[in-house]
Amino acid sequence: MAKLNKAKLHEAGGFHRAEHAHGRCVGRALDRAEALCRQRGARLTRMRRRVLELIWDSHKAVKAYDLLDRLSESEKSVRPPTVYRSLEFLMAHGLVHRVDSLNAFVGCSGSDEWHDAQFLICRECGEVSEMEGAAIGQAVARQAAVAGFTVRRQMVELHGECPSCAVS
Ligand SMILES: [Zn+2]
Ligand SMILES: [Zn+2]
Ligand SMILES: [Zn+2]
Repeated sequence: MAKLNKAKLHEAGGFHRAEHAHGRCVGRALDRAEALCRQRGARLTRMRRRVLELIWDSHKAVKAYDLLDRLSESEKSVRPPTVYRSLEFLMAHGLVHRVDSLNAFVGCSGSDEWHDAQFLICRECGEVSEMEGAAIGQAVARQAAVAGFTVRRQMVELHGECPSCAVS
C-alpha cells in the first residue's frame, strides 16, 4: 500500500494536494453554477455567487457564521438571513452540500444534477471529498428496501484521514 503511487491515491480518493491549482477548481465550480442557473432560468445574484466563491475558497467545509464573517469584511451589513437564503438557493440547485455532521457546507464537485452525496471527511485537516459513484447509494437503498424502508435522501459521511494526513 505504501508503495502505491501517491498521486494516484490522491486522485482515487478525490483529495487534492496542498499545492494543486485550486483556481481551476473554483473556475470550474463557478462556470458550472452559471451554466446551471442559465439553463434553469435561476438568478445567480452577486451575493449567491460570492457565497459560492467563499465556500470554494478551499476544499474544507465552511460554517455559515464563518461565511458571514468573511462577507462582512467586504460587504456592508450582511445579515444572517441573507447568507442562509443564498445557501438555500445553492443547495436547492445542487451547487453546495450541507455536511450534517460538521454543520457546514462544501461546494459540490459532482457533474450531474441533484444527487445523493457521499463524503470522505478528514478529521486531521478538515478536507472534504465528495465520492462519485451511484453504486454506494444504490447498495444502501437496496439494503433499506429489505427493511421495507423507502429512502428519500441519503447522506453518507465517512470520517477518517485523507491520503496526506494518513502518511504523516
Ligand atoms: Zn481545489
Ligand atoms: Zn455533489
Ligand atoms: Zn487530511
